Amino acid sequence: VHTLRLVLGDQLHIGHSWFAQPDTGVVYTLMEVRQETDYVLHHAQKVLAIFAAMRAFAQTLRDAGHRVRYVTIDDPSNRQRIDANLEALASHYGAACIETIAPDEWRLDEALRTWGADWARRTGGRFNMVDSEHFLCARDDVARTFAQRRQWLMEHFYRQMRRRYGVLMDSADTPAGGQWNYDHDNREPWRGDPPELPDNRPVHDLRALWATIEAAGVKTFGSPNAETLRWPLTRGEALEGLHDFVQRRLPHFGRFEDAMHSQAQRLFHSLLSFALNIKLLHPREVIAAAEQAWRDGQVPLAAAEGFIRQILGWREYVRGIYWAQMPGYDERNALGHNQPLPDWFWTGRTRMRCLSECVGASLQNAYAHHIQRLMVIGNFALLAGLSPQAVHRWYLGVYIDAFEWVELPNTLGMSQFADGGLLATKPYVSSAAYIDRMSDYCKGCAYDRKARTGEGACPFNALYWDFFARHEARLGRNARVALVYRQLDRMRGAELDAVRERAAQVRAQLDAL
Ligand code: FAD
Ligand code: SF4
Repeated sequence: VHTLRLVLGDQLHIGHSWFAQPDTGVVYTLMEVRQETDYVLHHAQKVLAIFAAMRAFAQTLRDAGHRVRYVTIDDPSNRQRIDANLEALASHYGAACIETIAPDEWRLDEALRTWGADWARRTGGRFNMVDSEHFLCARDDVARTFAQRRQWLMEHFYRQMRRRYGVLMDSADTPAGGQWNYDHDNREPWRGDPPELPDNRPVHDLRALWATIEAAGVKTFGSPNAETLRWPLTRGEALEGLHDFVQRRLPHFGRFEDAMHSQAQRLFHSLLSFALNIKLLHPREVIAAAEQAWRDGQVPLAAAEGFIRQILGWREYVRGIYWAQMPGYDERNALGHNQPLPDWFWTGRTRMRCLSECVGASLQNAYAHHIQRLMVIGNFALLAGLSPQAVHRWYLGVYIDAFEWVELPNTLGMSQFADGGLLATKPYVSSAAYIDRMSDYCKGCAYDRKARTGEGACPFNALYWDFFARHEARLGRNARVALVYRQLDRMRGAELDAVRERAAQVRAQLDAL
């Protein structure tokens, strides 16, 4: 053996050039380690699904003729750290070269580079990192696009990507249909028509693996659903998921993208983020499938554009922000928020129906869709002044698709405004009115969605005005929220005092809401 190659749990990309040809001089290693299960408290399904997908990927590699050393969580020789395992395996195989695919997380990238350089110096071997061949941009493309700008607008970056990749373009410079963005056609509430479609995802019985994970002492939260885990674990399953989405849900995707409903958790979302983020799917093939469906007349342009923008635009953009801003981005707290998370983040038990539905679904499924993450859970966290670092750790743990490069800019930047507005032009907050318009949550809630003050008033309402009053020095001159401050001006005096008093009461008893 001359080369030992490390494949991380979110690098299951069979199309990577590494895997083009088997080579008896190369051993691939995949490892289940406590270093990775324990850096934050994870949802049970996340640990289960990643380990199961890694095991399936190792089998795929073996079937293709590659040599694989798979280190299970309960392997007696497992040192439970990536570097220590690499060190031991390299000497076991007598490998003169260790190669890794560049990790997407700053934490691992830094750790592996430092360790690799040291290993090479000590042993005279060679340590090498190669590209993941997954993203459509280099790590630093976003930073270069925005070099001297104060604000980094996604829309600007997205148009550049459309041109660069010729996606949904009529000509080199003309977007399909003459418009770049069809968002105004989207964003309807959902009232049951068309009905939510049955969940066609595969069902996996992972009870044996779950028993192994528990026996190894890995701490998790949320439902394991080990008997009926519904996340795709192989490329074949992921491709079926893509096909199913494009055929059946994409036609309605844009229209109901922002809708929320207690009887329909998935609505018309793709549920592809897990497969994309562990690299079972390539963003290029997902984008191409959506564009082709539009070209074949199967889906409206607004739906295809709305979906493609999320992947060609947002997904690449937040990754660029992450690499431009790390290290240090995870510590930003522009609004000085420091309240701990209320207990019900871990149980879903609150009388606020929107939050019990969205937190409850997150704990049950390791999934919530974008508007549930942004405009219910994140909205509340920001209004209540929760610590953005505590919020970040919760999001990083709870969602099946959460990897820091994508989770952190979304949580800390877009949702919590903790970077002071680098990513979001204004804080994503709302009172009950927005939640009521976009969902059925308020009907049947213990709180009164119309009231601002009094014991039974919806907590969002008082918190909303109090948030803008508290942060007037920072936000008062932001043109995007000028209207809010004009309304606030009209409330000043006894009315605003009463609202702020109710907000103080709410903030003092978050656990009891
Ligand atoms: P769909 O609604 O079907 O969207 C299609 C795809 O577009 C997604 O699979 C995803 O790959 C991409 N996408 C959509 N929005 C974004 C976005 N804002 N940033 C990056 N990619 C996007 N997404 C993650 O993949 N991992 C995370 O840890 C994560 N954390 C988030 C935290 C917060 C506070 C918020 C507001 C959003 C977060 N998102 C995250 C983005 C988005 O909510 C999820 O990608 C989406 O809900 C995944 O479900 P889906 O596959 O059904 O998405
Ligand atoms: Fe949520 Fe307020 Fe509506 Fe209740 S009334 S569901 S707390 S927004």
